[in-house]
Formats: sequence, structure tokens, C-alpha cells
Amino acid sequence: MHPLAKLDHAYVWHPFTQMRDWLQREPIVILEGEGAVLRDVEGQEYLDANSSIWTNLHGHCHLTINAAVQRQLRKIAHSSALGLANEPASMLASKLVEATQASAAGGRRIADLRSGERPPAPPAPPATPHLNKVFFSDDGSTAMEVALKLAYEFARRRAPHRRPRFLSLDGAYHGDTVGAVSLGHIDLFHKAYAGLLFKSDIVMSPYCYRCPFNRAKPERADARDYRQCHWQCVGKVEQRFATAGKRDQAYAAMVVEPLIQGAAGMIPQPAGWLRRVTEIVRGHGAQLIADEVMTGFGRVGQPSCLTRSGAALALPLSGQDAGPTLFACHHEGVQPDFLTVAKGLTGGYLPMAATLTTQRVFDAFLGQYGEFKTFFHGHSYTANQLGSAAALASLEILRSKASLRDRRALEETLRDELKSLWALPNVGDIRQVGLIVGVELVRDWRTRASFDLWERAGLRVCEGMARRGVLTRPIGNVVVLMPPYCTTKPQVRLMLAALHEACKELRC
Ligand SMILES: *Cc1c(COP(=O)(O)O)cnc(C)c1O
Repeated sequence: MHPLAKLDHAYVWHPFTQMRDWLQREPIVILEGEGAVLRDVEGQEYLDANSSIWTNLHGHCHLTINAAVQRQLRKIAHSSALGLANEPASMLASKLVEATQASAAGGRRIADLRSGERPPAPPAPPATPHLNKVFFSDDGSTAMEVALKLAYEFARRRAPHRRPRFLSLDGAYHGDTVGAVSLGHIDLFHKAYAGLLFKSDIVMSPYCYRCPFNRAKPERADARDYRQCHWQCVGKVEQRFATAGKRDQAYAAMVVEPLIQGAAGMIPQPAGWLRRVTEIVRGHGAQLIADEVMTGFGRVGQPSCLTRSGAALALPLSGQDAGPTLFACHHEGVQPDFLTVAKGLTGGYLPMAATLTTQRVFDAFLGQYGEFKTFFHGHSYTANQLGSAAALASLEILRSKASLRDRRALEETLRDELKSLWALPNVGDIRQVGLIVGVELVRDWRTRASFDLWERAGLRVCEGMARRGVLTRPIGNVVVLMPPYCTTKPQVRLMLAALHEACKELRC
């Protein structure tokens, strides 16, 4: 065994890992990376098919980000945000605000509804609060923790007699700190800590493939395209709000991952869902918390018009000040009251996160010193300079024409190459939202019968892919592909070939 692998086995406890299994085999020890390729200590190369757990955007060892971090290193690595401002964090805050404005302006999506179909009640333009205040933290969980505390305190100050309550989606995952876990609904992860958590309400997530209201028989297409239902998923949200209102237990906020839920199993929302749900939230005087930790920074692609055959027609950028649409909620013309970003913020370089919110929320925390309306929250590395420098460089890359072109091309390539998987009987649903793909494995596509978790179908497919030089991780029976934006067509083909072959091995 490699000496570094030995050290790992001796001392490192890995996240979300059964360590008994881990200790039974030699781990891959990564030494370096370039673009979409990771290289281990033996010189073996792998494709990073999930962007190092959804963090990397532009590829590893990107010259522009490397240079930006090096430039910053020559000045200073870190100084505290408690009582001090700093150069890159101030600039980053302003660029993030600018990016959400430009993104919102560019993001009117032409809904990919089936011909003649409309979401219930034509959506009126939702209120679009200006997100102009940025609270920095360290990772997705802490960014959600900040949004949660701010929304809680904001609601409490408006109605002091009430305990603010939160609504989130079935299967939701918003991070691992205790507050973020309280907002989530994944039994497997969350049950153990039930005694530590506060209660949040749950509402059905729009999971077309396994929706009890979807009357369509399985077809060889994305379940959103052939569903037969009456938007009961939206009705359930409405019901929740109405019932809570009647009991005088109105929600302070609803928390959603816009367009697609990640750790829940890559569950995409049918077009129109987010917009409609936002109207319900606002109609009941609640706030919307958009968790864009996974979906942010171009991950969900550019707004496009999908034809029935699945081809995406790119829309031209609209408006004078419109930049690329970087955030998922803007694809549905929705501007949330809180927007959290983390994973891709630094291009996958350094742990850093941000919670963006409105002047209205900010103002609720203003007062005389002695009123103690201060937001009592912060982390040692808040507004870290190296992270900010990396994030500024990443934003710059995201705005470039070359990156936009690469993202569009990658989205197209994925769409084309994924088609071949429909030939496999163990592939039940293929869900693509921009540059995010979830492939749901089933015992038989005709019945949608699922594998039991102990059969480890997802894990076995990912192990088969690793043997073929492609690294990713499953979520239960869903295999995830989320490659860095620089991934080339031949690399995508390699990923799909590995997935195809590994799926075939499931049969024996
Ligand atoms: C990963 C993730 C989080 C948690 O982020 P960490 O950086 O792992 O703390 C929260 N929300 C979503 C949607 C995520 O994908």
C-alpha cells in the first residue's frame, strides 16, 4: 500500500463513509489535477465526473484562478472581518450583487411545457426584491444557517408572539450543521439527530418519475416530458400554507433548491413549478430562501427553449445590462429573499460561502447599539481574502464568452450522449438540468421497480465506472454526472461509455 494511503487508513475519518468498508481497500490518493482530469499517486488518471462533489466549475489548476490566488498570497492570506474590511471581499460582495441583478435580467425562461400545456393560473410577474447585502461564511451549511437565522429573527421582529416556522421539500438536503439539518428531510441522514433538531414542515417535492399523482405509464424519456397530472404538487404547497394560516401558524419562509433538488436524488422540477410556488409563498407573506449551493454559477445551464424532441434552443442574451444567467431561480423569473451560494463560489478552490439578502431584511437589524438588534453570528474565516480572490476570478471566467460557449456545448453534448442510455433496461429515468445529470437505476424500466438500498446498485455502478477511469458518487440508486465546464466531447463520451458498461454489469 502507498505510504500516503497508509497514513489515511491510520488517521483520517472520512465524511458520509462506512469506515469499515473504507479500511478494506486501498484508497485512491489524489496528487494533482488538470482540467477535468485527476491524477493519483500511482500516476493513474481519472475523469472528475462529479466536479469533486459539485464544487469545481472551470477545471482543476485553472491558470486564471491560480494566478489570482497567487497575486492575493503576495499581499495577505487572511485578516478578520470582525471590525475590519478587506480588498477582495468588498469587491466580491459588489460583484455578487451585480451578478444576481444581471442574471435576473437575462433569465426569462421560455417554459419547456408540452405543446398547449400551461401551469395552473398564468403566472403574474413575481415581486423581485433586490439582493444587495452579502453575509459571508465558509460552506453551504453555514450559508444556510445564516439564511435560517436571519429569516427567523426577521419574522420574530415583525410578529414577536409567534415562533417562526419553516417549510421545505420532501427529501430536502440543506447541509449538516444542526440548523441546516432541521430544514432537511432525508431520514437516513437526519433521523439519528432528531433529538437535537427543531421541527420544520415538509411538503411533497415535484418528483415526476415517482409521483403518486402521475398517471402516465413509463416511457423512454424524462418523466417530466410525459407526465399526466393536474399539478397536485403545487396544490399541496398551497394547502400547506392555507392550513398553517388558519391555525395562526403562518410560515416565516419556504426553503427550496430551485429547478433541481440535489442530494434528494437529482429531482428536477417541471417548468413553471418554482414560479407558481413563489407566488404562493409571497401571497401568504412568507419569504423565499433559495438554496443555490449546488445550482448556482451556471450549473443549470442557460435559459433555453426546449422543443418536444428535447433539443435545446439557446436564447440570445437579452437587455443591455443582462449578463449570463448564473442562478437557477432566474430561469423562472424568480428573485428570492435569500440566496445562498457556496460549492462553486470559488470555482471549487477554497471553502467559502455567501448568503445574499435584501435591504428590508438588513434594515430589520438596525438600531441603537443598546437595542442589541445586531446579527450575532460570524465565523473566524468570514470574508477570507484567498477565497474572495478565487471567487472574483471565477466570476470573471463565468462572464466570458468562451466559458458561455463551453457551457452551452457541454450541455448539448451531454444531451446527445445520454440518449444511448435509454437502451438499458436498468435505466428508469434520465434527468438533465443544464450541466447536472441524474440517472435513476431500476430493476426494470417497465415497472419502475427500484433496487433495495442494500443491493448497492448505485455504488456498484460507480465502482464499475471507477475501474474504467471515471470518478463519481451515487445518491442511492441515482448516478450523478456533473462534469467541470471545461470537459471536452471525447471526455463526455468516455464518461458515458463507462456508465453504459457499468450498468450492463448490474445484470449479472
Ligand atoms: C452541498 C450542499 C449543501 C451543504 O454544503 P456544504 O458546503 O457541504 O456544507 C447545502 N445545500 C445544498 C443544495 C448542497 O448541495
